[in-house]
Amino acid sequence: MFSQAKHVPHAPDELLIHNACVWPAADQAPIPDGRVLVRGGRIARLGRFHARAAYELDAGGGLVLPGLIQAHVHLGQTLFRGLAEDLPLLTWLRRYIWPLEAAHDGDSLYASALLACAEMLRGGVTAFLSMETTRHTGAAFAAAEQSGLMGVIGHCLMDETGNYPPLAVPLDDALADCDLLRAKLRGNDRLALAVAPRFALSCTPDLLREAAAYAREHHLRLHTHAAEQEQEVRLVRKLTGRGNIEFLHDVGLTGPDVAIAHCVHATRDEWEILAATQTHVLHCPTANLKLGSGIAPVPDLLARGINVALGSDGAACNNRLDLFQEMRLAALLQKGLHGPEAMPAQTVLRMATEGGARALGWDKEMGTLAEGKRANLIIVSPDKLHVTPSGNGAANLVFAHEPGDVELTMVNGEILYRNGECTRLDLAQVRALARAERAKLLQRAGLTS
Ligand SMILES: [Zn+2]
Repeated sequence: MFSQAKHVPHAPDELLIHNACVWPAADQAPIPDGRVLVRGGRIARLGRFHARAAYELDAGGGLVLPGLIQAHVHLGQTLFRGLAEDLPLLTWLRRYIWPLEAAHDGDSLYASALLACAEMLRGGVTAFLSMETTRHTGAAFAAAEQSGLMGVIGHCLMDETGNYPPLAVPLDDALADCDLLRAKLRGNDRLALAVAPRFALSCTPDLLREAAAYAREHHLRLHTHAAEQEQEVRLVRKLTGRGNIEFLHDVGLTGPDVAIAHCVHATRDEWEILAATQTHVLHCPTANLKLGSGIAPVPDLLARGINVALGSDGAACNNRLDLFQEMRLAALLQKGLHGPEAMPAQTVLRMATEGGARALGWDKEMGTLAEGKRANLIIVSPDKLHVTPSGNGAANLVFAHEPGDVELTMVNGEILYRNGECTRLDLAQVRALARAERAKLLQRAGLTS
């Protein structure tokens, strides 16, 4: 009855992971020679105990961790990787990203989202929060569903696009799309819809207010961007007379159900608004550097009790969906600014796990390994040259490890990635589809690679 790793089915009802260094949470000590018993998709037991199970998996002394949570990504931008470089935010959006998004059809968005999901699974991600574009969001749901990942996928709302009208969708039509997506998601226990007004400059105040009311009526997450770049903040002030976060607060877009990407240029007064309203901040260090936006004041936000989660943002401005790199950079940036004690590795690991779970509204289900929570976990190899000899667990994980060290990614007790292969996806097909759809997308957008 007992099986070696290769015989373990992808979705066993009962699985005992043994010979593992089990690390239940960033703030808890790792348990050497630990075990995790998974039953019915959830963690039934963890620690040191004796038990037998229908299937057993030898972790080879590897680290068993809560799955990483990618808290800000645009699945639909993965096909844009490497297409728009060396530009500031607003030019980058208007010249490349919005025309490319407008040129998406359901097939290209599906291919883009599938590629993103495969890359995330390979890098130890078990759940994500995304923002898609104003059309075809159903295709992103279809790709995520096929990959098996858990995710909160944002339908993007834009009704004020200035000199770029093709992406604009009237509010009533956008909310009708949200109605359709909600109806399709009924009974789905891995995917949820977020309402995602893009940012203050692409939405009328009426849309922002209505979006907040709609999300609250239907208990949906709100996901937006703010205070990413100085020019954006200046424009918001010119149009509204308010700071970017102040303005979002005025229209109802702050609160424990709201996740805001960036907040690089939020003012001290706005930090207090974020703290008082329990709004979540999504920190994307690579994207902020690459677009020349600046460095988010993460230690100041954390000191006020604000939940900060970690994201890579889209592949168009990163150019990879790699939370190991984001963890490393999130720590290094603050150390460089404020000294070596400013951002301990453990804090960064907490942001990438528990912080993400809170931002998605799923902290009762994931973010730590605990009895009763979903079996969303990863096994990370301790045997690579660049992590040998392994010392302080958190420092090794944040500064030495990389996505290629992830040996297994499990969501809901189902093995979705193992030893270089996705169990539900053919990676050669995912790549071929992405190349083919990008060529067609560029043609539709009138751009060349
Ligand atoms: Zn973004």
